[in-house]
Amino acid sequence: MMRNIAAIAVLVWGLSGAARAEDVQAVYRPEQKAALTQWLDQHLAGLVETCKHVHAHPELSLHETQTAELVARGLRDAGLEVTTDVGGHGVVGVLRNGDGPVVLVRGDMDALPVVEESGLDYASAVRVTQPDGAVVGVMHACGHDIHTTMVLGTAQALSALRDQWHGTVVMIAQPAEELGLGAGAMIKDGLFERFPRPDCCLSLHVSHKLPVGTVAYTPGWSAANVDSVDITIFGRGGHGARPNSTVDPIVTAAYVITQLQTLVSRRVDPIEPAVVTVGSIHGGAKHNVIPDEVKLQLTVRSYTDAVRHQLLDGIRQITTDVCKSFGCPKPPAVVVDDETFTPACYNDPALTLAAAGVFRKLLGDDHVVEDPPEMGGEDFGQFARALNVPGLQYGLGSISPETYQASLAPGAEPLPSLHSSRYRADTEDAVRYGVSTMTMLTLALLPAAE
Ligand SMILES: [Zn+2]
Ligand SMILES: [Zn+2]
Repeated sequence: MMRNIAAIAVLVWGLSGAARAEDVQAVYRPEQKAALTQWLDQHLAGLVETCKHVHAHPELSLHETQTAELVARGLRDAGLEVTTDVGGHGVVGVLRNGDGPVVLVRGDMDALPVVEESGLDYASAVRVTQPDGAVVGVMHACGHDIHTTMVLGTAQALSALRDQWHGTVVMIAQPAEELGLGAGAMIKDGLFERFPRPDCCLSLHVSHKLPVGTVAYTPGWSAANVDSVDITIFGRGGHGARPNSTVDPIVTAAYVITQLQTLVSRRVDPIEPAVVTVGSIHGGAKHNVIPDEVKLQLTVRSYTDAVRHQLLDGIRQITTDVCKSFGCPKPPAVVVDDETFTPACYNDPALTLAAAGVFRKLLGDDHVVEDPPEMGGEDFGQFARALNVPGLQYGLGSISPETYQASLAPGAEPLPSLHSSRYRADTEDAVRYGVSTMTMLTLALLPAAE
């Protein structure tokens, strides 16, 4: 009976695009937790070893060959139908287990160009040479080693417990998240045509702010639209002592930057989140030379499509008009990089609250916290958005309890954030809770076997 209700409920979400609270059947079943705990007791050590291996062998975005191979092997061993090279190095594993809804579980695989200073025994010593000849370190400073291992562990656990549920699970190991490219590339490569079409999409991201054993959820928007904008302001250079014979692009740029601040403060509805940051300005080479041009690089953040367009249109208009008012010899180039645009991530509120209920039963009320939304970027939102089905990314505490406690002492240094060279996860427990929360949530959304 439960099977039919849950199957219908999930299918209704698929049709409506957003889950209504009354449609979400997330059923926590203690017998499934018991079976999972027993499975984890036997397999956690192996998964932790895998995670440490991935941590010590990180690969930059678009270069995730070894990691993808390791995931593909692990998913095949767990009995999934595996397809590699989906949207680059993406891996898709399908676990078919009779009639029922389709749940997508996504983890990302790529690391960052950071020299690791975590002090872990299995810290990365990997160095790579960039196309410009620079040698950079590579580090899993965003915890994608844990996400990769979560995908493997969850697939293995769901496969081992297949007599407990019905339906289909699509496990995804995604490349190039840090560039905001991987999700879109997998979708463009036929993710939803070549494989079963999901009724909901799940993922997690490690949190540097929470201890292991705690999870965080954010109903609604949780990550922002991210646009990168490149501006070139064209002046007419000359001698620094004779500014009257030039059009100074540096002074023009200063006015552009100042005017851009009014977009958020004066134009966007004050209750709509928005950010315009000029992160880079380059122009000139010497005290007494007025250059020909100045280049700016901006990051632009928003939640809704309407605010996004308001900001981008406003940047074009302000830049063009300020340059005109300074008599620039030609209009500025304002280039919005569509390739790297990352759409905002929306956590379906009904699905999110249902998941929080499952986590409270699994971890205890004190270990499930609501996190405020942020303006960071995360390309996971693309999956649910492309399908118009509910999606959820929750936060997974990853810091050892001792380190976390110490950080609360008065005057203590704040915990290193994600992307820091000093970010240091408690790998063993992060893997344990990553696999247990994702497996229990997936099971709760799927109908139980009669
Ligand atoms: Zn990151
Ligand atoms: Zn990340």
